[in-house]
Amino acid sequence: MYTYRVNEIFYSIQGEGEFAGTPAVFVRFSGCNLACPWCDTDHSHGVEMTLADIEKKVGELLAGRDGAIIVLTGGEPALQLHDDEPMFFGFTARICIETNGTLPVPDWVDWITVSPKNELSPVVPRPSELKFVFEPEHIPYILSMQEADCVKFIQPLARKDGTANLREAVDFVLAHPRFKLSVQLHKMIGVR
Ligand code: SF4
Repeated sequence: MYTYRVNEIFYSIQGEGEFAGTPAVFVRFSGCNLACPWCDTDHSHGVEMTLADIEKKVGELLAGRDGAIIVLTGGEPALQLHDDEPMFFGFTARICIETNGTLPVPDWVDWITVSPKNELSPVVPRPSELKFVFEPEHIPYILSMQEADCVKFIQPLARKDGTANLREAVDFVLAHPRFKLSVQLHKMIGVR
């Protein structure tokens, strides 16, 4: 049996990508294998939990909330997932993951959102969606993946001063219709 280092588990609304607007239980795992300079996620703190601990908490939050999804996020959640210990077996909720794409993802995950970082090529063979945080200097890299056989999102870069390069992201999507715009809906509606 494994233990997992978990930062927080909470119920909110998915703000990004294909499931934007969907109620979700988020399991935020601690730790990441990258160190992106713009990272604003607290993934350094956490408590050790067993799978039973996690499933109990998630089950409580999902009770009476059919249609909500489960989102495994981080940090880098794939650091702590195991092929031989499927999570949420018997749960009916869709299991999604938000990953930087540098590590394999177990087959028991239903929906894989890859947000490539630092121009590293994802190792995930078949992402369900790609989500690029838009930086103009990365346009050649982003365009190199425009033929990927999945939905591809462009998300404005949120700066530390609270602004974002929304206009540049909008202009890029208008000029490159293989991509769709994703805004951080949760920030607009004031939820986590
Ligand atoms: S991959 Fe994500 S969680 Fe990890 S350092 Fe980069 S932005 Fe932060």
